[in-house]
Amino acid sequence: MNDQLRSWAEVSLDRIAANYRNIRAVVGPQTAVACVVKSEAYGHGMVAVAKRLVAEGAPWLTVTSTQEGMELRQAGIQDAHVLVMADALRANFASMLDHRLTPAVHDLADLAVFNELALARGERVRVHLKIDSGMGRLGVPADARAIAEAAGACPNVEIEGLMSHLASSSDFPATQTGQQVQTFTRVASELAGAGIRPRLRHISASGGVVYGCRDAWLDMVRIGLSLYGYVPATTGPAPASLVDVKPALAWKTRVLSIKELPAGVPVGYGARHITKRPTRIAVVGAGYADGVFRQLSCRGLVRAAGVWVPMLGAVSMDMSTIDVTDVAGVKPGDEVELLGEGFDADNIAALADTISYDVLCKIQPRAERIYV
Ligand SMILES: *Cc1c(COP(=O)(O)O)cnc(C)c1O
Repeated sequence: MNDQLRSWAEVSLDRIAANYRNIRAVVGPQTAVACVVKSEAYGHGMVAVAKRLVAEGAPWLTVTSTQEGMELRQAGIQDAHVLVMADALRANFASMLDHRLTPAVHDLADLAVFNELALARGERVRVHLKIDSGMGRLGVPADARAIAEAAGACPNVEIEGLMSHLASSSDFPATQTGQQVQTFTRVASELAGAGIRPRLRHISASGGVVYGCRDAWLDMVRIGLSLYGYVPATTGPAPASLVDVKPALAWKTRVLSIKELPAGVPVGYGARHITKRPTRIAVVGAGYADGVFRQLSCRGLVRAAGVWVPMLGAVSMDMSTIDVTDVAGVKPGDEVELLGEGFDADNIAALADTISYDVLCKIQPRAERIYV
């Protein structure tokens, strides 16, 4: 059926749904699980994943940009709340409200901008205020008095959520997580003292959940990576993961051509591999323009005829070369697995000196997503 595709990714929505249910069970009923579907659901396909998660009962979806949020609404996802986590561009604020997206606010001056927009529409708008609790990226300073003052001047803005983000939740032993949680909790209680009690306090992503930072679970957690079956790579002595999640994506390509080479001849750009023996290579139809990391040149593995075999030579833009000398029967048109059980995003990340997130997000749209 897909024998005409050079490269495609098979995604199990059942698996993602099972991962979601597992995470929900781990955090328990007091804590909502917001499903992070930004960046095409980490390469799994945003709309298809979001629809399935909403069907599983997900109350909140979160995205990075207004454009991603609009895409969800335009795809017919109307009931779930959609939090736009990282769009601080004022040019998008009106569109957020037009599409009933919930803005995360990163600047106290933006509260007034939303207040004006709300007044002009004759409505109240709900926002989630992001505090910089110590990550040093987006968010307003952790100063409850300044927040209360700004919020007091914006009667048409309801601060429904108070959020922050942890910078080191999979680093052990790191003191930053504890400090961030403490800062966040302090600001939340000072705001409560000033009469501001956001319904949803949320600070944790996958790392804070899977490694059991329970103080950070609060009213909601925002889960991306672990929905897709991975846990963040740790540094130091990490506790065991609390979740039982499994990857949902296998990325495949096809053999374009098979070639027998003698010993002592070069393979590919820069002659980075010289055959050491008579070698049968297969040229497969995916390269760095599809998302195969160039760092896998001469180092990666792919599965051909059920066997994990090495990549030989440089990864090219649209092709890679693999060694099938020891695997009988590989022929043009055969399926070859680039990422799957046995050589997954964590394995690739380790070879390419990056993280599983990066590997998943880099699988290009040119690899059609097929839901199995
Ligand atoms: C991407 C993101 C998340 C999800 O992080 P995971 O580690 O993938 O669970 C949560 N919150 C914010 C603000 C994010 O940008």
